[in-house]
Amino acid sequence: ILQVAHLEKYYQKRHVLYDINFSVDKGEVVTLLGPSGSGKSTLIRCLNGLEPYQNGTITFEEETVTPTEKNWQQIRQKIGMVFQSYDLFPNLTVIDNILLGPTKVQKQSKDAARAEAVKLLKRVGLEDYADSYPRMLSGGQKQRIAIVRALALHPDFMLFDEVTASLDPEMVRGVLNIIKDLANTDNMTMIVVTHEMNFAQEIADRVLFLENGKILEQTPSKQFFEKPQTDRAQEFLDSMD
Ligand code: ATP
Ligand code: MG
Repeated sequence: ILQVAHLEKYYQKRHVLYDINFSVDKGEVVTLLGPSGSGKSTLIRCLNGLEPYQNGTITFEEETVTPTEKNWQQIRQKIGMVFQSYDLFPNLTVIDNILLGPTKVQKQSKDAARAEAVKLLKRVGLEDYADSYPRMLSGGQKQRIAIVRALALHPDFMLFDEVTASLDPEMVRGVLNIIKDLANTDNMTMIVVTHEMNFAQEIADRVLFLENGKILEQTPSKQFFEKPQTDRAQEFLDSMD
């Protein structure tokens, strides 16, 4: 469903991603692990067109993007993304936050979009908060709404970048369980950046280990957590215990 070939990314003169090559199959769950500053967020943002890059190709379904051929429109519609900061619109209610994309961007009918939004809210246990404003919600609740907002656009692919990093510990499980359920029940294809190693181990089919902007290994999850191929990955895992 996704192929990345020879991707190179610089911030001005600073080279932050080196010859990134990988692909993701439909239904696959890939976790992107690596030390702070290794380039995980940058890579995720490149995949969604949020960050320009200097060389290489990204192919999603039938569409190929290059640094000169920037046909992101189609692709963006199909890739949902949730970040560490939920960035809900503070002046809109929960339901209006969710409906904005489906009705304004995708031109779904209001009634159908609303019915779908309510269904998704039920799924994450927040149907009673439809008319609340984001400031009235806890961090964990906001993050669940951010996930619902992405799902309301019917993505084929989800990108999660440390979605629990700014949550209180007691909020983390609820959010992770939603992601796990998406993987298991909906068979959603996803790339997940996380510092929660237990969660990564539970959810991942495959691990991409990134260091200093390079993919040091791509290993089936079970094998990675038992015995990664590189010493650097082993050191990383040891440091996370
Ligand atoms: P973390 O685990 O801390 O989130 P990360 O793996 O997501 O780290 P990135 O945020 O992708 O790492 O950063 C990769 C490198 O790019 C770092 O050296 C960082 O300083 C640099 N960088 C990130 N964003 C920018 C930017 N907007 N401008 C310049 N350099 C940046
Ligand atoms: Mg990051």
